[in-house]
Amino acid sequence: MAPSSYTPQPPKEEAHQHEWQPISKTYAAPRRALIEGLEGEVLEHALFGVTTILWECVICKQLRKAYSLGSDKSELDELLDKTEMYGPQYIQRDGVTYVLSRYQVQQQPMVPLK
Ligand SMILES: [Zn+2]
Repeated sequence: MAPSSYTPQPPKEEAHQHEWQPISKTYAAPRRALIEGLEGEVLEHALFGVTTILWECVICKQLRKAYSLGSDKSELDELLDKTEMYGPQYIQRDGVTYVLSRYQVQQQPMVPLK
């Protein structure tokens, strides 16, 4: 493994369980167009993207980085982001096509019911 980039803290021998809190989170999107010639972990990251979470212990301020494949956002969150960026999204499930698009409030005047 490559060495982590955080500055190593001299271990304090205080008796505490680290209390990790996420202090930053970054997500690198998949790069499926660039997977040729990649293998192993790098290929996985290119296929699924990778989420990097930086944790800090609230007690001793030690930092820890954790990676996970893919995004920890839900599929729906990602679809909504895409809809905001690119317009309506078409989702196909079992031969049925669904459209996800931003709801526009109609500004037409109310027609009184008879
Ligand atoms: Zn700690």
